[in-house]
Amino acid sequence: MDSPPTDFIRQRIQSDIAEQRLAQGVITRFPPEPNGYLHIGHAKSICLNFGVAEQFGGKTFLRFDDTNPLKESDEYVEAIKADVAWLGFAWTEVTHASDYFEQIYGYAVDLIKAGKAFVCSLDAEAMRLTRGTLTEPGQDSPHRQRSIEENLDLFQRMRAGEFAEGEHVLRLKIDMASPNINLRDPVIYRIRYATHQRTGDDWCIYPMYDFTHCICDALESISHSLCTLEFEDHRPLYDWVLDNINLNYHPPQIEFSRLGLEYTVMSKRILNRLVDDDLVDGWDDPRMPTVAGLRRRGVTPAAIRDFCARIGVTKQDNTVEMNLLEFCVRKDMESTAPRGMGVLEPLKVVITNFAEIQPVELSGPWHAQNEALGQRTLPFGRELFIERSDFELEPPKKYKRLSPGEMVRLRYAFIIRCDEVVYDASGEIAQLNCTYFEDSRSGQDTSGLKPKGVIHWVDAEAGVPVQVRDYQRLFRVPNPGSDTLLEDINPDSVVRLDAVVEPAIMASDSDRFQFERQGYFCKDSEQANVFNKTVSLREGF
Ligand code: ATP
Ligand code: MG
Repeated sequence: MDSPPTDFIRQRIQSDIAEQRLAQGVITRFPPEPNGYLHIGHAKSICLNFGVAEQFGGKTFLRFDDTNPLKESDEYVEAIKADVAWLGFAWTEVTHASDYFEQIYGYAVDLIKAGKAFVCSLDAEAMRLTRGTLTEPGQDSPHRQRSIEENLDLFQRMRAGEFAEGEHVLRLKIDMASPNINLRDPVIYRIRYATHQRTGDDWCIYPMYDFTHCICDALESISHSLCTLEFEDHRPLYDWVLDNINLNYHPPQIEFSRLGLEYTVMSKRILNRLVDDDLVDGWDDPRMPTVAGLRRRGVTPAAIRDFCARIGVTKQDNTVEMNLLEFCVRKDMESTAPRGMGVLEPLKVVITNFAEIQPVELSGPWHAQNEALGQRTLPFGRELFIERSDFELEPPKKYKRLSPGEMVRLRYAFIIRCDEVVYDASGEIAQLNCTYFEDSRSGQDTSGLKPKGVIHWVDAEAGVPVQVRDYQRLFRVPNPGSDTLLEDINPDSVVRLDAVVEPAIMASDSDRFQFERQGYFCKDSEQANVFNKTVSLREGF
């Protein structure tokens, strides 16, 4: 999109700047939990957090919210960094919630000393039963009145590893009758005997997200803590913690809507299941809505950023049609991707009047409207492939491609006429015998012939056999559910085709191409001679 975005968050930042409320300027953070690869929903948050800092000359922290060692790993940390950088954003600094574990522990101790936190020894089930409901208040824990000394002693022994997992937790002492369930004495520390990818076995107690996040934001002087709407109900807790500990800075939390995309899922937990259950071919499977999957499919960072700009930032639920993403991908490739010829369903054509020993080198522009992409040579010989669907035995009226006795122009080459259809033993069309007109060469045509159509082709000898993977939606329904995942998944979401592409495509440094009349494709980053279809040429194909 051409004009810089305006949205309620940018308006808010502009007025904060105008009224000199930001002592240290604009400071944002993108805070992923390293429990999976990033998806396009995260890209929305990345474009927002890094985008506003860029726009207003500020800073952005890439902060790993690594408080749950059971689900997190270094592989995910590295993948997330690579994806953010690939999207075109530069962080000021990488930080981790675990960098602050000692400080966070200190604030918990302060809260105990102030009588605002207590060690609770109810088990998970008892805690659930006493939490109350949306309409009924909860009940105080029998341990809520423990003395400060006892709490300090127990909490210190929790840290020292004297108790089993689940034996005790640390809870805030707020209000079990609060209409906001998040304020009903929330748990802020739990025991976990798990090796953390950064702090190893230093800790066996880990702080919960709600306690950690606001403290990290304050320690990093975040000017605008931007998060998705499901945290709106957590904001009173965010504020409560910062109001009750001794930190002299209190960032504002501002919520915006999550991105949802039709026919796919947008949750690391569910994406993880797809990977673990081998329902897809890893996190970077081109059908995945992950940044890595989109990259492997041939989508560029520019297209993703354009998409995020177009969906905008609002407080309204945001389930977007896949068409919008595809529109952005097409728009990005339209003028930049070289255009070559690939035949997806090859049908052999033999030019019977073409001398076997004298192939010609033709040439054509990589892009008729973008001369900067240059020219490539096109070998042309006695045997060629055309698209099976460009031939009809009994053509409908106004048919513009090839049929018996009719002529067609081969793009950047000659006019041919189909003289004979050759069948194989099973009665299928095996080959077309054609005549070419030597004086009809593109650009030098003196033949006076006027065929109705132009089709693409590839020289059989010089052409390179490849596999093309055409991806369909991963799910059959617009809003797949996590309970119905297996039913909702589309069993035919990848179609593999044997195809032939012109040699210049294989030799080119470019990874992305338009195959004329077929769509946009990219070379697979892992497997040689495999092309992934990025998107069709037009909507609805
Ligand atoms: P998931 O369920 O996919 O793991 P999450 O919100 O738990 O999502 P985090 O790694 O905690 O994932 O998210 C990092 C940041 O990205 C958070 O600020 C979160 O609000 C934001 N984010 C996650 N999913 C989306 C989405 N679909 N649209 C916009 N922002 C998102
Ligand atoms: Mg999360």
